[in-house]
Amino acid sequence: MKVLKFGGTSVGNSESINSVIEIVSDYIKQKEKIIVVCSAMAGVTDELIKTAKAAEKGGNEYEEYFLRIKDKHLNTLKDLIVKSKINDSKEHIENKLDELYLILNSVSLLKELTLRTLDNIMSYGEYFSCYIISQALLSRGIKCEFLDARKIIKTDEQFGNAKVIFEKTNQLIKEYFTKHKKLQVVTGFIASTLSGETTTLGRGGSDYTASIIGAALNVEEIVIWTDVDGIMTADPRKVKSAFPLKAVTYEEAMEMSHFGAKVIYSPTMLPALQNKIKIRIKNTFNPSFRGTLILPREPNVKFNMKGISSIDDVHMLQVEGSALIGVEGISARIFNALAKEKVKVLLITQGSSGHTICFAVFPSDSLRAKKAIENELKLEIYEKQLKRVEVIENLSMLAVVGEDLLNTPGVPGMVLSALGQHGINTIAIAQGSSQLNLTIVIHKEQLKKALNVLHDSLFLTK
Ligand code: ADP
Ligand code: ASP
Ligand code: MG
Repeated sequence: MKVLKFGGTSVGNSESINSVIEIVSDYIKQKEKIIVVCSAMAGVTDELIKTAKAAEKGGNEYEEYFLRIKDKHLNTLKDLIVKSKINDSKEHIENKLDELYLILNSVSLLKELTLRTLDNIMSYGEYFSCYIISQALLSRGIKCEFLDARKIIKTDEQFGNAKVIFEKTNQLIKEYFTKHKKLQVVTGFIASTLSGETTTLGRGGSDYTASIIGAALNVEEIVIWTDVDGIMTADPRKVKSAFPLKAVTYEEAMEMSHFGAKVIYSPTMLPALQNKIKIRIKNTFNPSFRGTLILPREPNVKFNMKGISSIDDVHMLQVEGSALIGVEGISARIFNALAKEKVKVLLITQGSSGHTICFAVFPSDSLRAKKAIENELKLEIYEKQLKRVEVIENLSMLAVVGEDLLNTPGVPGMVLSALGQHGINTIAIAQGSSQLNLTIVIHKEQLKKALNVLHDSLFLTK
């Protein structure tokens, strides 16, 4: 058994969905047992968020956005399903669209949009795409059933980025698939709480859905069908000479995606890793290409540098002053204050004199982080043992990733000299959260150049 996951671009319009149907048919012809997981059509999750935010402002701008979403889905349905069979499915989608409209209307009347309601609104993207695809498969004579993942994936109530309750989820998945033997077309990204409220698994979360199901059923392989030839040495949109990797370890894939490689959602690797299930990344638009295999690290195999990824927007916060050397436990207080505010710290560096601590955060966390630290250390600031926290904006972070990176002598030197030779200033450098990466903060306007310079010197000269 294999789980196949098709991303937004793969199901982005009727033509792409036809390519998906071809791929699914090929598996069936080969007598493979498969489960299909799909994302919302490309751009739809963003459009749903935009529509919900417009509704929150009141007024009726949201109606225009809603109509665009409606047309997109009804037109796709019309393209894919033979006329004689379209009525029932059209009615079903129209009823669901009415339901969505009512929710948006309530948001606009109340001028209030909670994360819980936003999850509910976003869930329609995957609902529509998967329902339409299941109907399209049926109309081509491929027996299948639509499966709303809210029935099988249970989470806590952290709306927008819910945590899976694995014990319950695994049990539900096993039960469901024991009873339903037909090909299931499952909604990615969405789940529900124990009391049945809709949640989502974080942006890009459809990959995770595939891995959760794959691990629960201990499948042979999870195949992530996307719009590129695999995991590449860098984001192909930023580095033209990037090339697809044949294989990477789970840890390398996790590290690259954690540092911005959108090709696979970072948590996806965990359920697969625990059950040693291979993940293969393949291109829906170039299906004969081998793609990239994600697998466990083998002892005694030497691993090379794998890739460079980047987080385009970060802020650095700098805490400076004599208290950092004089006062005991001050770093612990700083990081506890940040943890309490749920600020995600992306990188930490400390000056050798001990007078400064710098750390990088997402811009959306930066003000909260500054306030949390200044509140925690108000006494030290008042007594001038510390300066106020300085925030440096317009920065990017790039990470060079590979299993053996840090035991390969000379890599940091190569990286820094390549950047230096091209006039790129490094603002902070750290060995990332694991042994697998070297992380560098630079000015945002130099990101593209930095990525290309590093890619050429690390990957092409060899
Ligand atoms: P899907 O809709 O199939 O889930 P995503 O848009 O989430 O696809 O992810 C695929 C995109 O990830 C690619 O189009 C590419 O632009 C981007 N990407 C960023 N870094 C990398 C990388 N290192 N390798 C491959 N793709 C990458
Ligand atoms: N549709 C969701 C998103 O855009 C999930 C996914 O595509 O993986 O984030
Ligand atoms: Mg994705």
